[in-house]
Amino acid sequence: MTPENIGPKPNRSEPANAVFDDFDRNHLWHPYTSTHDPLPTFKADHAQGAVITLADGTELIDGMSSWWCVIHGYNHPVLNQAAKDQIDKMSHVMFGGLTHQPAIDLGKLLLSILPPSMNHIFYADSGSVATEVAMKMAVQAIDDPERTNFATIRSGYHGDTWNAMSVCDPVTGMHGAFGGALPVRFFAPSPGCGFYDEWNPADYEPMRRLLDEHRDEIAGVILEPIVQGAGGMRFYHPQYLRELRRQCDELGMILVFDEIATGFGRTGKLFAWEHAGAEPDIMLLGKCITGGFMTFSAVAASARVADMVSSSSAGVMMHGPTFMGNPLACAVALASTRLLLESPWQSRIKEIETTLRERLSVAEGWPCTAGVRVLGGIGVIELKRPITDLAPFQKMCVEEGVWIRPFGKNAYIMPPYMAISDAQLDRLCTAFLKIIRTLYC
Ligand SMILES: *Cc1c(COP(=O)(O)O)cnc(C)c1O
Repeated sequence: MTPENIGPKPNRSEPANAVFDDFDRNHLWHPYTSTHDPLPTFKADHAQGAVITLADGTELIDGMSSWWCVIHGYNHPVLNQAAKDQIDKMSHVMFGGLTHQPAIDLGKLLLSILPPSMNHIFYADSGSVATEVAMKMAVQAIDDPERTNFATIRSGYHGDTWNAMSVCDPVTGMHGAFGGALPVRFFAPSPGCGFYDEWNPADYEPMRRLLDEHRDEIAGVILEPIVQGAGGMRFYHPQYLRELRRQCDELGMILVFDEIATGFGRTGKLFAWEHAGAEPDIMLLGKCITGGFMTFSAVAASARVADMVSSSSAGVMMHGPTFMGNPLACAVALASTRLLLESPWQSRIKEIETTLRERLSVAEGWPCTAGVRVLGGIGVIELKRPITDLAPFQKMCVEEGVWIRPFGKNAYIMPPYMAISDAQLDRLCTAFLKIIRTLYC
């Protein structure tokens, strides 16, 4: 059977509008979409700096950094060159029994910027896989058949694979669709004390009780430090992490910080743990590790965790993906991280934070909004009611020349901070406010 015989026939003539494609609509699955009534997809032709250009020439200022990762902007000559140089040597070689310079150089650079206790790096394929690796690592480190479970906080997001889903928020995550098939985790409420609020010690008590009560079942705690991203766009108080660090030490639990969304400057610090000064035992990096160039992730572990895993009954870390330590990804990650560290990222993100705060605060008083929050290069407008239909939102984005994708009640912008100009940021904010106002207020 040829593909032509399966499903609706692709339309072979060029559609009237070059930005929509019938084959795509009929045959390609996009994130979280139905095949019955798929969300329209606009065809991107090329992208440069902070601008994505559609097939009909429409230019969109990128407000998403392609899901938090394209920090230097698109088509960056330094990243392109790093990829080209590496392709001409070897784009891949297995990591079992072999190593290579890009993996070594990247590992050295990462350890120099990660929390001081981090000592070992496990390279993996994507953020979700990094979550799986970290959870396996924690279970192996604890090495106790009774203590294999995890605690986390509500409103989290850790990826779409099985274990990652199990620690995502039970409501905004995918527990509804997979319910009984998922391992049952322990959830404490999401921290109520905001990043800028005065610390209220009562905020940590539910987690304290939870960990105390289930101390004989829990191997570790996993959470996103300071900023909860795709599970709720919440910014919480650094003291929460200090309390959690102390209690994990008391109870001998492994503390995992998922910095896949917060790493490499997004919150104003290079990594979000720095807001609290509380170090994790295991830390996850992904998304902007390659500057959004390609998929890649890293799981960093302390010497203590590595030692626990290596002294466990299995004696080795039980994971080894085919594309582990992919040289091309390592070379691009190295170039991207160097580029960031050599740039004035701190002052640029500070400026963007100031602009976002000044520009977005007008939405505070609108009847449709529940609040406006800004931290580093993240600006959130929380609505009173969830956005259930993305199509009109997307359509208006394209009309206004920007690209933004909200989820649930949270509409947010997180521009490519090292690429966006002041004028582009201004236009992005103007369009963002106009879309919210026009469609929902
Ligand atoms: C995006 C994200 C993940 C998952 O990463 P993928 O590369 O999409 O698998 C995990 N944790 C956090 C905090 C994320 O934002």
